Formats: sequence, C-alpha cells, structure tokens
Amino acid sequence: MKVATGTKIVNGIGIGKIRIFKAPVYDIDESEVEDPIPELKRFEDARIKVQQAQHALYEKALQTAGEESAGIFEAHELMLDDDDLIDECKAIMAEQNRRAEYAVRQGFDNVAQMFRDMDDPYFQARSADVIDLKNSMLDVLLGNDTGAGFGDEPFILVAEDLAPSETVKLDKSLLLGLVTREGSSSSHTAILARSMNLPSLIQCKDISDDWDGKEAILDGYNSCIYIEPTQDLVASLTARREEDLKQEALLQELKGKDNTTIDGKTIKVYANIGGPSDMGAVQVNDAGGVGLFRSEFVYLGSPVDPSEEAQFEAYKRVLETLSPKFVIIRTCDIGADKTIDYMDLDKEENPALGYRAIRICLTRKDFFKRQLRALLRASAFGNLGIMFPMIISLREVRECKELLAECRRELENENVKMGQIQVGIMIETPAAALCADELAEEVDFFSLGTNDLTQYTCAIDRQNAKLEPFADAHHPAVLKLIQMTIEAGHRHNIWVGICGELGADLTLTETFLRMGVDELSVNPKSVLSLRKKIRSIDLSKAPAPEN
Ligand code: PEP
Ligand code: MG
Repeated sequence: MKVATGTKIVNGIGIGKIRIFKAPVYDIDESEVEDPIPELKRFEDARIKVQQAQHALYEKALQTAGEESAGIFEAHELMLDDDDLIDECKAIMAEQNRRAEYAVRQGFDNVAQMFRDMDDPYFQARSADVIDLKNSMLDVLLGNDTGAGFGDEPFILVAEDLAPSETVKLDKSLLLGLVTREGSSSSHTAILARSMNLPSLIQCKDISDDWDGKEAILDGYNSCIYIEPTQDLVASLTARREEDLKQEALLQELKGKDNTTIDGKTIKVYANIGGPSDMGAVQVNDAGGVGLFRSEFVYLGSPVDPSEEAQFEAYKRVLETLSPKFVIIRTCDIGADKTIDYMDLDKEENPALGYRAIRICLTRKDFFKRQLRALLRASAFGNLGIMFPMIISLREVRECKELLAECRRELENENVKMGQIQVGIMIETPAAALCADELAEEVDFFSLGTNDLTQYTCAIDRQNAKLEPFADAHHPAVLKLIQMTIEAGHRHNIWVGICGELGADLTLTETFLRMGVDELSVNPKSVLSLRKKIRSIDLSKAPAPEN
C-alpha cells in the first residue's frame, strides 16, 4: 500500500479504482510519408469514428439537455460530411505526402480561420466547432484517452489540474472523488468539487501515472489517498463511509423544517448551482431557492457561444422546474480562471484584476444583450432575480440597468411575455462594499461574493496555491466589509445575502446571523447542515466564541 497526501477540499471517503485524466497533447509528426494511401484510409476511419461519437453525444444530449443543446452535436456530424473540409485534408495528404494527423491539424485550422474571418458572428462562432472536431479527430488518430471513455464503472479521478471547462464536462454520476497535483482551495474547480460533495484533494504532489486502474481509497478526513489499501483499511474506511451516509440520512429529517434560530429569527437558505443539471440537488436538499446560478457554466459547457435561444431554454428549464422558488441568475462571469476559446480573450498579466465579468459584458454589448434578452424571456416562467458580478461603481450598475431596460423595450415591441424580476448586484470588491450605500439605491438586493471579496481585500490570488499559508478565511477586514454591506443594505431597505463559500462555513453562521444577514446561499449539499446549525443558535444569549 502507498499513501500520498494533499490538501483537503471536501471531507468524506471515496473507495474505487483510479482513472488518470490527461488533457490531450497533440504531438504531431510533420515528416513526409512515402505512400499517402494508408493515411487517406486512417483519415476516413477516424472521420467515421468521430461522426459516430458525435451522433451518440447527440442522442445523449437529447435525453438530458433538450433539442437546442443536442443540435450542436448534430451540426458537428454534418460538418464532418462537408466536402470542402474533407477535400482540404485529403489534398494535404495526397499532394504533400503528409500523415493524416498533420493534414487534420492543417486542414481544420484553415477552415476554422476561414470562419473566423467572416463578418457574420454566427459563422465566426462556427470556428470553435471546427476546432472541437479537430481535437476529436486528433484524439482518435493519436490514440489519446481524453477521459471521455472511462466506461460505466465509478472511479476516483486523478489529474495534474482541471480547468473549470474540463470539470463541467465530466460525468459526475460516476465520480467517487477528485485528486489533483495543482489547484487552490478557492478555485472554481474546488467550488465545483464542493458543490458535488466529492471527497477531494488538491496539491497532491506524489501523483503518478502508474496509479491508473489501481484500487484506492481517498480519505478526505486525513487529506490523503491510499493506493492498493490493505484489507483492514478497506474494512475500517468502508465503515466510516457508512457512518457518513447514516449522518446524511439523519439530516434528511430536517427537510421541510424552517431555518429558524432558537429565539425565532428566520433566514433564507438557498443553493448555488452551475446549470440545469444541478436542479435535482436543489430539490433533494430542500433549498428554499437558488441564490447563485453561475450562468457562465452554461457558456463553459458549450463548444460555441450559446445563442439567445439556447440560453433561454436553459434558464426557462431552471425557472419552470423550480417555480415558485426564487432563482437568482448571475450574468456571465467569465474571465480569470474561467476562460473560453470562442471568446478570444487575450492572455493577461493579472487576469483576476483584468478584463472579466461585467467588464466584458459592458464592452461586448451584443453578447450581453443576448443573455439579458434570454433572461427576460425566461422570467415569464418563474420567479427570477438577475445579479451582476464584479461591480465596482454606480456607473456600471446604471449601465447594466439601462441595457436591461433596452432589452425589455425590445421584447415588449415583439409582444414577448415577461415576468417581474428583482435586480441585484454582487458585492465582491472592496470598492463595492465601501460604496454600498450609494449602490443600494439602485438595486433590490445585494449578494456578498466572499471568494472574490477575500481575494481583493487581502490581495491574495485565489488561484495561487502558494499563498494558502497567508490566506485567512476569517480575516477581520473581510468580516468588517461584510458587516458594513449588510448595514448599508438595511439602511436602504434592501435584503442582503452571502453566496460565497463563507456562507457554508458553520463556524461563522452565528456571526453572520448577528450581523443581520437575510440569506445564505451555499452548495446544495450544505443546505441541511446549515439548517441544523441555524436551528441550534440562540441569538438572545451572549455570542458563542468562534470555534
Ligand atoms: C464569489 O466571488 O464569492 C462568488 C460567489 O463568485 P465566484 O466564486 O463564482 O467568483
Ligand atoms: Mg466572484
């Protein structure tokens, strides 16, 4: 048995086989071949295989995500029949005596560039499909295991690192745990792991390729993973896992109960989600609503810039299914660690302080308006709140509201039905917290994004694992800004919630209640334990020391 240690992100035990996830590297042989005929055959075989895979994805998406999303894969199937694309690749093989993978890289890149150069944004966006297909073709030709073909058996996923865009594509139903060599505890990948309640370790430096396929136990409690564990250890940690399941079952008894303290103060406990697929977790864990729908995961999960229609379908599904629960959808918070190829964003020196979130939306107005229109249309189907991220000034809030009003007017002229919505902003920069009095005049609610608020207040890059020793999740400056924001909101009669990870920190629940917070939005799996904590607090008594 081997033991490797790391930094725990989520407690719990995962028992099963390891699968190593590798982001594909395309090492392409550029030398000439004597005979291109076998290469033409390899190309044709790969094309058919990828086409069949796209068809299978189409069928799957049709069941799980609806017609609009499935359409992407149908379009991919058709693209692989495109004569121009096929001829381009074949010419490179036949005329330049090159291997199939060289021809695919060259041919698909040329066609992608051709789309990129077109004026119509629809055709420009198709370049991302071509690149996606190029990678699938190269995976087949070079025999890469992209992690898509892990089979049906549950597994512990081990990776160097995972980008949010890779994490959203994983089949969560099969994951027993997550271990990465890199990563930081407040990265979005860590947030996704928490929301899935997956036992997870980051910074596990001893990861090794020869773990692939081996039996293992991920022990979140002790921040380690055992490779080929002894029978005794399997028995004792299986018992621990069963105990966890029993405790989870006990929490179920809190379903349907109020989030009310012993002395009678009730607050809202909502859930954070990343898309329609998390709705089940909202229901199962009895969250009162959704306090943060990170809409950028709809963009990250799509190979192309999602159309107004595709977004409308996703938002409508969530609102309709959860109605009459209140659902706050945050507008696209892309940038920093959440990057998307089709957005063509420049590499920056300081991405967390850079061109991101509302800064992108307010400079790419057509992109932003597409989302606002989709949200307004979806508002007819449920109880919607729209929230703008990364706000630092009154000017930005007013501009967002003007664009929203413009979209509303357009849709009224088109006779589209819309519902009432609340408009709020995230308070996740010190600038916003310090200007909370002025900002509160403009909106219906505030939601404190403590992940970024901590990053910007303490000047600690949340992506940089080296800074963990300097990070203090309970830094007094952050707590002071939270208190100031709640007080400012209440002075202007608006409600104030917390949707950052601190909301689920049970050692701070009493502090937040004493500050007067109105809502806590946490990952769905934390809803019932937070309810249990709230119900154990008596605000009429002297404050309990932080533990
Ligand atoms: C936050 O910053 O606290 C937040 C909720 O947003 P995100 O974690 O997605 O940046
Ligand atoms: Mg944030």
